[in-house]
Amino acid sequence: MPQPLPKIRLHLDAALSEGAEVSLSRDQANYLGAVMRLGPGARLLVFNGRDGEWLAEAVTLTKRAGQLTLFERTRPPAPPPDLWLLFAPVKKARTDFIVEKACELGCRRVLPVLTELTNSERVNTERLQAHMVEAAEQCGLVWVPEMAEPIKLTAALDDWPPERRLLFCNERGGVPAAEALSTAEPSPWAIITGPEGGFSEAEAARLAGLPGALSVSLGPRILRADTAAVAALTLWQAIHGDWR
Ligand code: SAM
Repeated sequence: MPQPLPKIRLHLDAALSEGAEVSLSRDQANYLGAVMRLGPGARLLVFNGRDGEWLAEAVTLTKRAGQLTLFERTRPPAPPPDLWLLFAPVKKARTDFIVEKACELGCRRVLPVLTELTNSERVNTERLQAHMVEAAEQCGLVWVPEMAEPIKLTAALDDWPPERRLLFCNERGGVPAAEALSTAEPSPWAIITGPEGGFSEAEAARLAGLPGALSVSLGPRILRADTAAVAALTLWQAIHGDWR
């Protein structure tokens, strides 16, 4: 009877291969040694989006340092569907929530866009990327979505890849999102949600006019930005993504 795989998963940027000896950072050793109370001989899964997921064993492990040795690969790299989430940053806790849910729900790239009414211009992408790594470890991803640097919405649209369709969550109303998505062809997609203050008239017109864009309603109520992001990601995954 094969051994059940360990539950603990750790993202490592190092090259992962059979027999590799990988050193842990101080934070990783502290997480495994102090928080998870593991010691030498403990087994865990380590992964990254390049080399896949591997069964590993702690050769040495204290609260400050550790060394792992790798056995066999348990899963190949598995990128989520080709979906981007563009979101206007909102208050810190809600932005953290949006980024964490984008990772869990399945998204390949997360791009903060600065719109006319965005009032949280400061976005700590390093901290948000760390949030995504934690979410990837927890939800079983063999991948970590890319956390892009914030850019102005106008710049993102000026440089929009023509093959990528945009699901514009339009608080002023639009086609019901599920209806719009279920009649649309599969292709690379992006979802965009606005800030607490919503999109300006000019932004809404430009977004709705983007070739291939769908201007959709997420129902008769005005959702908070984080609720809208989760709702749109859920709909897209259920209709076009890897939930089927
Ligand atoms: N201040 C805006 C208003 O009162 O109309 C609300 C903005 S809402 C807090 C933030 C973002 O969530 C919107 O820009 C939109 O992208 C999305 N959103 C919220 N409710 C929505 C709905 N019913 N349909 C489509 N998108 C919605």
